[in-house]
Amino acid sequence: MKKQAIDTQCVQGGYTAGNGEPRQIPIIQSTTFRYETSSDMGKLFDLEANGYFYSRLQNPTCDTVAKKIAELEGGTAAMLTSSGQSANFFSIFNIAGNGDHVVACSQIYGGTFNLFNVTLRRMGITFTFVSPDASEEELNAAFRPNTKAVFGETVSNPSLAVLDIERFAKAAHTHGVPLIVDNTFATPVNCRPFEFGADIVTHSTTKYMDGHASAVGGAIVDSGKFDWAAHADKFPGLCTPDESYHGITYVERFGLEGAFITKATAQLMRDFGAIQSPQSAFLLNLGLESLHLRMRAHCENGLAVAKYLQSHPKIAWVRYPDLPGDPYYALAQKYLPHGSCGVVSFGVKGGRKAAEDFMGHLKIAAIETHVADARTCCLHPASSTHRQLTDAELSAAGVSPDLVRFSCGIEAKEDLIADIEQALAAI
Ligand SMILES: *Cc1c(COP(=O)(O)O)cnc(C)c1O
Repeated sequence: MKKQAIDTQCVQGGYTAGNGEPRQIPIIQSTTFRYETSSDMGKLFDLEANGYFYSRLQNPTCDTVAKKIAELEGGTAAMLTSSGQSANFFSIFNIAGNGDHVVACSQIYGGTFNLFNVTLRRMGITFTFVSPDASEEELNAAFRPNTKAVFGETVSNPSLAVLDIERFAKAAHTHGVPLIVDNTFATPVNCRPFEFGADIVTHSTTKYMDGHASAVGGAIVDSGKFDWAAHADKFPGLCTPDESYHGITYVERFGLEGAFITKATAQLMRDFGAIQSPQSAFLLNLGLESLHLRMRAHCENGLAVAKYLQSHPKIAWVRYPDLPGDPYYALAQKYLPHGSCGVVSFGVKGGRKAAEDFMGHLKIAAIETHVADARTCCLHPASSTHRQLTDAELSAAGVSPDLVRFSCGIEAKEDLIADIEQALAAI
């Protein structure tokens, strides 16, 4: 059968009910699974058979939803994690450890920046942050012999830079390492990074994928395309025997299509246990069923709000990749031709104080540490998600002190604009 459209995959992907089986995906709310013999179970512990034994590592409901996300991204394997943070942590830690190095785009989510720059540094992994606009020369100069990956966000949170995926993938591949792309803001409805050369995709499913602010979660998807074996010296964890599983070698046993996710499940989930709950996975799947419809509405509202703000005398600047004249307009047209996301960043004249005043007068848009939700919300990153960053780090992350992150929901655009209008009139 012809590859289905993304709209159909959102609704139907990952699960097909058999004769007389539930139409909706079953929630397997069980920590454990019964076996007839110890040797049946032993095979699971040796990764010799496929199956479930303990929901700290794997759960059927999570796998059903992960399969849908793999289909949406066009990947070969996927796993759900308990949060976007754990997805990004695993995506790096699965292939890098003490003494290794990663090249990361400087314009990324504040939580990811902290994870990399503080916590992973404490674990012995160093990072070089490069601008999304870095020249080919600057980009290549960031690599070292111990570099294991390149990391960036399709559309960065909250600075809304669009990653030149092909250019970053080319640099990564020239140096024999994969490109990991956090595709949270674009979602596979608007961009499938694998089509442009990315190797691994991560998500905070907490955002548009869930879409209703109901469950925190994350996902990792593997394209199956990165040839670990061709760079076996860089990736011993995937290409040499794992003693904790009786000496199996992931790439040999599971192929390029399965090695990365199997290793992350067998080692990282086993040891860190950052799995999504089956209940959350069920809610995530409900969200995915309407993702294609919601993304269109978010983008329509985002563009309408951005255009309105652009002509308002109390607004200092507006950033929205779909807005003609935006510094990332050309890249957005290339990578996100159907729209980028519903998030608009802007500055209110009068700086930090004016931004906070304005936000206090909004009635529909709520002040929340959240983004990418059906209900419009807004945040002042410099005093919240990016609070730990120095001024220099803030500016490298593309976050000015007056930046308001305005996340357009799927309400009527006229009402969102009216809300902004009355809040601006009040300051
Ligand atoms: C929110 C977010 C994360 C972190 O995800 P959580 O689900 O909050 O842990 C990572 N990356 C991006 C781009 C995000 O927006």
